Amino acid sequence: MRADLHLHSTASDGELAPGEVMRRAAAGGLTLVALTDHDSASGVPEAREAAAALDLTVLPGTELSSTREGREIHILGYGIDPDHPAIRRRGAVARERRRERMSAMVGNLSEQGLELSLAEVELAAGRAGLSMLGRPHLARALVAAGHVVTVEEAFDRWIGDRHPAFVPTDLGSPEEAVATIRDAGGVAVWAHPPSDLLSTCLDGLVDAGLQGVEAYRANWSPGRCRRVARAARGRGLCTTGGSDWHGPAKGGRLGDFWLPEERIADLLDRLGRG
Ligand code: AMP
Ligand code: FE
Ligand code: FE
Ligand code: ZN
Repeated sequence: MRADLHLHSTASDGELAPGEVMRRAAAGGLTLVALTDHDSASGVPEAREAAAALDLTVLPGTELSSTREGREIHILGYGIDPDHPAIRRRGAVARERRRERMSAMVGNLSEQGLELSLAEVELAAGRAGLSMLGRPHLARALVAAGHVVTVEEAFDRWIGDRHPAFVPTDLGSPEEAVATIRDAGGVAVWAHPPSDLLSTCLDGLVDAGLQGVEAYRANWSPGRCRRVARAARGRGLCTTGGSDWHGPAKGGRLGDFWLPEERIADLLDRLGRG
């Protein structure tokens, strides 16, 4: 087994459509993947259809944004029912809130002398009106408008956390995100936990129903992965991992990072796939 359980598509802020992500996953040698778009599972049907024609299993997933004291906490949901009302409702609210928040960031940028319209951001996201607008779309729109040269420059100068034009998303607490995932029949996993928050917040999230921690990530050192995995296993939680791939521009080739079965055996057990 070669697994990558953290992938994004155009259903949120990824560069490629869900079907194309699946084709590249299979071409890169992956055999089990999860599509985990921000605040949405709307790409799952297309991913499933594409995977059916490939030697590839796809787990339905999502990655819910939440905040704690101004910090972003992302909760992955594996094995959710993408059509569950809790997920659909959450998607509708997120789409609306993200649009308002994007409008506020566009306003902040214009105060800094960077003229841009919300329509240009929606164009960068495709699917106007249906898009789950995120900062990567704003970054691409800033590049297209010539205000910055690269997406990285957009984050580093303007829209990265705590930068002049940044506005946090306001989608509730991590406990609420965990509850939504559990309601929808999923396994709730803390994505890319920052080290300081891992020690202060993990036990509270476990009490709220958290079942796993993302411990294996492409850009983490083996030591960091081991420490996070130990914190998870010490509390009886499962471990997961993935590339957090958003497309070829920044993420390179899909399949270069993968996990063997033993890293995710506990998750597969919980999903009834062990
Ligand atoms: P949002 O959910 O709109 O706050 O956007 C968060 C997303 O922005 C993350 O999931 C990444 O895809 C992307 N992101 C965050 N920080 C950076 C960065 N420094 N450079 C490039 N992309 C980033
Ligand atoms: Fe993202
Ligand atoms: Fe994330
Ligand atoms: Zn992600």
